[in-house]
Amino acid sequence: MPIFDFKCENCAHVWEALLPDAKTYPASCPGCGSMNLSGFFLCLI
Ligand SMILES: [Zn+2]
Repeated sequence: MPIFDFKCENCAHVWEALLPDAKTYPASCPGCGSMNLSGFFLCLI
C-alpha cells in the first residue's frame, strides 16, 4: 500500500497516512481541522 506524507498548510502539522486508494485521501488536518493540505508520496509497503 502507498504511504503518503501530509502537511497542513495552516498549522504545519505533518503526519503519515496509508492510502489504499485515492478515495481515502484525508479531508482535514487531525491537528486543527484545516482542509488546506499538501500530500507527498512517500513509499510503497
Ligand atoms: Zn493543521
